[in-house]
Amino acid sequence: MRIGTGYDIHRLEKGEPLLLGGVKIPSEKGSVAHSDGDALLHAITDALLGAAALGDIGQHFPDTDPQYKGKDSRYFLKEVCALIREKKYEIKNVDATVILQSPKLAEHIPAIRRTIALCMELDVDQVSVKAKTNEKLDATGLGEGVMVQAVVLLS
Ligand code: MG
Repeated sequence: MRIGTGYDIHRLEKGEPLLLGGVKIPSEKGSVAHSDGDALLHAITDALLGAAALGDIGQHFPDTDPQYKGKDSRYFLKEVCALIREKKYEIKNVDATVILQSPKLAEHIPAIRRTIALCMELDVDQVSVKAKTNEKLDATGLGEGVMVQAVVLLS
């Protein structure tokens, strides 16, 4: 068994799209990023790489590379899942927490879990996504960013 953690944060600005787990969330503000800014998929991708000690998302997909500009982050996750399976690991489960002051994500969680499961070729019950606010504390709590923590287990 191997465990990995992932973390990501993106700044939020008005007029940008907000993508979380491959799902477009209706929101006044969205992620500022080189790729599509999907912090949830980035954190999960990093957790997978961490579990296998294969570096991090920035090494595999540099944000200085024009081919990743505006890139759908499901591509990064799919590529890394393939790499993980190439190394003969099995992905057991994913657990992630999204910290976002607004909007509330509860109604989107089922679609987010389904989208991640499909992307990772897992069952929905292997993918947990939780959401919370930051109680209006710090930059995330003031709505200036979206933060994600993720954990994965490989066998
Ligand atoms: Mg990111």
